[in-house]
Amino acid sequence: MTADNDKLPRKKGKIDDPVADDLKKDFPQLARKINRKRIVYLDNAATTQKPSCVIEAVKRFYEEHNANVHRGLYSISEESTRAFDEARAIVARFLSAEPDEIIFTKGATEGLNLLSWTVKEIVGKGREKILLTELEHHSNLVPWQELAKREGFKLEFVRIKKDFMLDMDDLKKKLDKKTAIFSFTAVSNAVGTKTDIALLSRLGREVGAITIIDAAQAAPHMKLDVKEIGCDFLTFSGHKMLGPAGVGVLYGKKDLLGKLPPFQFGGHMIRDVDYESATYGDSPEKFEAGTPNMEGVIGLGEAVRYLEAVGLENISSWENSLLRYALKKVCELEEVEVYTSGAENSAGVLSFNMKGVHPHDISSIFNDYNVCVRAGHHCTMPLMKKMGVSGTVRVSFYFYNTIEDVDLFVEALKKAISVFHPGAEEKPLLGGAVVVQEAEADKEAEEESKGDF
Ligand code: PLP
Repeated sequence: MTADNDKLPRKKGKIDDPVADDLKKDFPQLARKINRKRIVYLDNAATTQKPSCVIEAVKRFYEEHNANVHRGLYSISEESTRAFDEARAIVARFLSAEPDEIIFTKGATEGLNLLSWTVKEIVGKGREKILLTELEHHSNLVPWQELAKREGFKLEFVRIKKDFMLDMDDLKKKLDKKTAIFSFTAVSNAVGTKTDIALLSRLGREVGAITIIDAAQAAPHMKLDVKEIGCDFLTFSGHKMLGPAGVGVLYGKKDLLGKLPPFQFGGHMIRDVDYESATYGDSPEKFEAGTPNMEGVIGLGEAVRYLEAVGLENISSWENSLLRYALKKVCELEEVEVYTSGAENSAGVLSFNMKGVHPHDISSIFNDYNVCVRAGHHCTMPLMKKMGVSGTVRVSFYFYNTIEDVDLFVEALKKAISVFHPGAEEKPLLGGAVVVQEAEADKEAEEESKGDF
């Protein structure tokens, strides 16, 4: 079963507007029209569109190679097993890891749940604290709350400053020899802030904590090399990076995976079974009980090949250009409050509110323009509460977005302003109410924010 090389993008090198527009053609759904208008898809942090090569890899699996993996001794089972194992090797290379350090899960949520149920076994004696940050998605919060309840760990949170950046003084105070687990996001899905994952991993390592990275919003957008980062575990979801839904990855250092107990039990993960007891295989089998999401894994392998052909550095750089352009446009609108760490410190996410208007009302006006954005708490309720809002409108870019997409979004936003703030057009645009200015330009706020968000 060979992958379809001619379906991978030919364009390599820097992405600019024409290249992004060209790449769009690989994504059938982006050609769809609703009410004769094209879709402007800006909800990529929720899930991404799928290129033809991924759709075809899944279709080909079902049409030609469908048989259970790692079981049958006949040709099509061998084919499906080969494709499945190849996908693991592709993902391992993508992260600079070894294939047996890659566990396939349902997604980032399952990766974090797997750890929350098993990691206690490798926690050092006398360590009683789970340290998270105030930026976390519920998936990197609630499983730890449950572990804390079950096992009596104390939960602590690294504070964020007014610019949504981690307060490193607070981090250094809280990350100590009592820290068992330090789990943090690489990119905030709600406000786009990037954290310095290599630095955080190093600081965690220095105090002997187990370091875990929620890379759900990073793996699709930036190069991740687990050896360079130096984390113990890292997890992400396939559907946010062009792959099918229901498949994700948990990376773990080999020696640590060797010490973790299984998370689920059943077929495939065993070495030997008697009626009374069983022994378990090694990683990754030990963590992959039951028939896996075969078509999902194979589709994810194809998605990774596509991303590598486009180039992760090119992706980050183009998304940053889109973000800068969008920030500039949106910050000119004084009815809009933007929540950002600034383009320098953010991935391609722009979160905002309009004064006095519920985010849902804004997004429903956007829908008239086929501009797809997310409105709500983004599964970060504690962060929203800290910000004093019920939710935000979130625009999130991917490499197939263009300047025209941003312009259409801004047009829809201006329409929403004219609906909810009639008369606003007559006011001079003096510059928007940016709740959080670009971090580098806001040293004063940084001082003020200490201990007081
Ligand atoms: N972590 C972050 C930062 C996310 O943005 C998400 C999803 O939005 C998740 C974890 C959970 O991902 P999934 O729902 O694919 O498991």
